[in-house]
Amino acid sequence: MALLVMKFGGTSVADLDRIRIVAAHVKREIDAGNQCAVVVSAMGGQTDQLVELTKQAAPLHDAREYDVVVSSGEQVTSGLLSIVLQSMGVPARSWQGWQIPVKTSDAHGAALITGIETQELKNRLGRGEVAVVPGFQGIGPDNRITTLGRGGSDTSAVALAAALGADRCDIYTDVDGIYTADPRVVPHARRLDKISYEEMLETASLGAKVLQTRSVQLAMLHQVRLLVRSSFDPPDQVRGETGGAGTLVCDEDELVEQQVVSGIAYTKDEAKVTLVRVEDKPGVAARVFGPLAEANINVDMIVQNVSDDGRTTDLTFTVIAADLNRALEVLEKVKEDVGYRDLRGSTNVVKVSAIGVGMRSHAGVAARMFKALADKGINIEAISTSEIKISILIDAAYAELAVRTLHSLYGLDNA
Ligand code: ADP
Ligand code: ASP
Ligand code: MG
Repeated sequence: MALLVMKFGGTSVADLDRIRIVAAHVKREIDAGNQCAVVVSAMGGQTDQLVELTKQAAPLHDAREYDVVVSSGEQVTSGLLSIVLQSMGVPARSWQGWQIPVKTSDAHGAALITGIETQELKNRLGRGEVAVVPGFQGIGPDNRITTLGRGGSDTSAVALAAALGADRCDIYTDVDGIYTADPRVVPHARRLDKISYEEMLETASLGAKVLQTRSVQLAMLHQVRLLVRSSFDPPDQVRGETGGAGTLVCDEDELVEQQVVSGIAYTKDEAKVTLVRVEDKPGVAARVFGPLAEANINVDMIVQNVSDDGRTTDLTFTVIAADLNRALEVLEKVKEDVGYRDLRGSTNVVKVSAIGVGMRSHAGVAARMFKALADKGINIEAISTSEIKISILIDAAYAELAVRTLHSLYGLDNA
C-alpha cells in the first residue's frame, strides 16, 4: 500500500468525459489498496478566460480580487471530480485551499506555499476517502485567497506530497513523460525514462512548461519522487515506476545511462535591450543594472561589445518579456547619468538551451553548438552558461530550426 498524490492538468480535466477517465485512474489506485490525494487544475483554457475577464473588468486591478476570480476554475473541477468519484462508489471529498488550509505568502498572483495542515486529510485518507484538492490556490496571511502563478497546480501537488510524506507524486498530463525536447516542436523527440532533479529544474526554468519550475525546486528539496505520465493512457493499465511509461524525476545517481546533453528547451518569454554607445568606463554597469534591480527587474543574459574607439561600446542584455516596457522606462530615466546614445528593445528573440549534467565532464559542447548554428546561418546575439546548460539568444524566426538542429546535433533524435 502506498500514499499517492495524483495531479491532473487542464487537458486531463477538459470536460466531463475526461474527468470520468481521471476518476477511473484514481479508482484503479484505490482498488489496488493505495491512499490517494488528487490535485486538479481548472478545465483547459478556463484560467486564460478568467484572466481575460479580470483584464476586461479593469486593466489595472486589485491582485487580491484577481486571485478570487482565477482560482475559481479549480474549485469547479475539484467538485466535479468528487461527484464523479462518488457516483462510481469511491468515497471522495473536495478540499479548497482555505479549508485545508494551504498557507501561502501574501504575494497575490505568485504566492509561495509556507505550510500545509495535513492531520485531517491524513485521517480521511486512512479511512479510504479520496481527498480532491484544487491546485493553484491557497490562503494568505490576511486570510484571503491566493494563487501560485500560472502552472501552479504542479507546485500544489508536490507541496502536498511533501507535507503528507507521500510515496510518490504522479503528474498526469497530455504527454507520457518528459521528452528530449517539446514533442510538439520536435516530432523525433524521445521520452526519457529518468531525468535528474537538476536537469528538470533547468529544463523547466528554461522554457519547458511541462512542470512549473517551483514544483521541481520543492521536489528536489524534499526528495519527492515525481513521475510524469499521461492521463490519456488506458486507466486500467497499471505500470511500475519506470515500467515503460512515464518519466521519473529523481536523484542524479539513479540515472543509469547518461547523455552529455539530455534535452533542448526554448522560451519566447525573453526580451532584448540594447544600449547603444554607452561610455566605456568604470561604474557604468552599476549605473545601468542598479536601477533595474531596484525596480525588481531580473536581468538574464548580458553581452558587452568590444569598444572600437576605446570610449563607447554597445551593451545588450535580456529581461523577461513582461518586464520590457518597465525596463525601458527605468533606463530612460537614467539616460543622463549613464550616458548612452540610443535605447532599443525587442521581443523578437528566443532563448534556446541545451541541458545535461554530462556537460560537467565533457568539453566542446558549446563549440559544436556554435558551429552547427553558423552552418544554418543562425546568428547568436547573446550567450549564457552554467555548469549544466548553455543558452543562446537568437532571432525568433529561427526558433524551431535551432531547436531541431541542436536536437540532432547532440544525438537525441529518435531513430
Ligand atoms: P498540464 O495542463 O497537464 O499541466 P501543460 O500544458 O502545462 O500540461 O504541460 C504539458 C505540455 O508541455 C506538453 O503538451 C508539451 O507540449 C509541453 N512540453 C514542453 N517541453 C516538454 C518536454 N521536454 N517534454 C514533455 N512535454 C513538454
Ligand atoms: N489553472 C492554472 C493555470 O492554468 C494552474 C495550472 O493549471 O497548473 O495556470
Ligand atoms: Mg501545466
